[in-house]
Order: sequence, then C-alpha cells, then structure tokens
Amino acid sequence: MAGTLLGVDVGGTQIKAARVSGQGQILELLRIATPDGLNGFRKAAQEIIAALGADAPPVGVGCKGIIETGTTRVAVLPGTLHYLEGQRLSDLFAGAGEVRADNDARAALLGECRWGAAQGRQHVLMLTLGTGVGGGVLSAGRALRGAGGVGGHLGHLTVNPDGELCICGNRGCLETVFSSRAIESAAAAAIHRGVPSALLEASQPVSCDQVFDAARAGDVLAADIVARATHTLAAAIAGLALTFDPEIVILGGQIAGAGDLLFDPLRAELVKRTRLMLKRDLPVVRAQLSDASGVCGAAALALES
Ligand SMILES: [Zn+2]
Repeated sequence: MAGTLLGVDVGGTQIKAARVSGQGQILELLRIATPDGLNGFRKAAQEIIAALGADAPPVGVGCKGIIETGTTRVAVLPGTLHYLEGQRLSDLFAGAGEVRADNDARAALLGECRWGAAQGRQHVLMLTLGTGVGGGVLSAGRALRGAGGVGGHLGHLTVNPDGELCICGNRGCLETVFSSRAIESAAAAAIHRGVPSALLEASQPVSCDQVFDAARAGDVLAADIVARATHTLAAAIAGLALTFDPEIVILGGQIAGAGDLLFDPLRAELVKRTRLMLKRDLPVVRAQLSDASGVCGAAALALES
C-alpha cells in the first residue's frame, strides 16, 4: 500500500481510522468505541497502528479541542475526552510513520481542500453542523490557526450577547442556537410548554433529525424551530463572509444532510445580507467527503508540511 496514508478521527463516541489513498479514497476503515480513560485510549491507538500501520504510513490525527500542531500535544479538550489533555498524539499513535495532528474541523477543511468541494480554492469557510458546530477558515491558501491554535472555532462566534451559556464559557455562541443539541432543546422546551405539534406523538426526547423531518412534513412548531435556527446561522455566515471574503462556504456534519430545507432559506438570506458588499454570488455547498470525512481530513493532515 505504498503512497497511502493513515487517517484517524478521534470523536467523543467513536475513534475512526482508515487507510486512505493519495487520491482521498478510503481503502480500509476501522471503528473503535472511544474508551473512557487514558489507558484504554492507549490500547485502542496501538490496536489501530497494529491493524493499519504495519508498513509505517504517514499518520494524520484529527481530534476535538485545541491541538498544538508543532508537538501534536492536546492543549485544551473539555468534555468526555478531557483525559487526553497534555498528551502528545504522536506518542499515543507511535509505531507507524510520522504523526501530524490538528483540530478535527480544521482537518475536515483541509480534506475538502485537497479532495472535496474546495479543490483549487484559496479562500474557504467551512462549518461542521453536528452536536456542536466546528469550523475552519482557509485564507490565502492557509488554514487560519491564530496565535494559540484557537482560530477558526466558528461555532463559538457570539450571535447573541445575552444568550444561553455555552460549554466554552462564553454565552450566546452560534452552537447554542444552531446545533443538533440546540435544536433538540428548543423542541423539548416547546413540547414541555404544550405547543401543539406532531412531535408530541414522537418518542421523547425528540432528535434533531425528527425535528427536520416534521418541519419537512409541514409541522408548524418544527418548521418554526428550524426557520429560527437557520435565520441565525445565515446571519452568522453573512458576518463571517464579510469578515473573511471566502470564494465558497462548505457545510459538513450531520445537519448538512437536511438538504434544501436548510440550504434554500440559508442561501436566500445570505444573498440579502451580503450582496451589497460582495457583489457576487457566494456558493454555499455541502461537504463532498462522505460521513467518514473525519478520516479523509485527518489523512490530509498527514500530507501537510
Ligand atoms: Zn461557545
């Protein structure tokens, strides 16, 4: 398998690892439930290296949180993977080729630049819309990292100065309004208030997918929740577009699968908010690398210099 790469996506529920060709094709994929402690993680990492790293391929690791790219050290990682803080991913995944590591959303952006929707682009905004909202900014061909690696955390853009508290310590962040958790909380609160909706008949608690499905079927409450969240997302992207002047905006993550129900109102609102300054259409497209884009993006990290 000469010329192939090993991409590893460290997520809160699963670690996905794959051999990826130099053209971004997944050749072999392995999934391991994310261990709940460091010893278990060490074992899982070595299992991956034993299964997929025998011929010492270059390794790219995408991980949540703030990763020091020079050393691969996990600097900040709140939540269930907190035990990785202070660890070097190059130590944990030692045994194959050189290990490079970065934030998972930034890895997804680099994957899209190399093999997906952003090929040939120099200025790109990417948001991953899932449980939370990840982000990445490519400016003049370089992924923005900022002074300490925090740059590009677009999910923590403040969209309401007095909004809900966020896991990051700020309040009113984009992901407190538009994320699967935020949409599920909005639905649960409305159901609790007794607002009439088909969602009352669904098994509780309702999922973000169920809210989008009900909105598509014409449920007034679900449609209202989706419309309000999308309105805020559009306003946030408009501000980002005027800040970074991207050629293209790429949306990845689970909620991007909602298709036209999300993209149509988003594009319309974005045109209204940006056309005076941009004087051009700003394409908003779905990420091209499939649900395993985490591993392709991570593999793309292995090619970064
Ligand atoms: Zn936040």
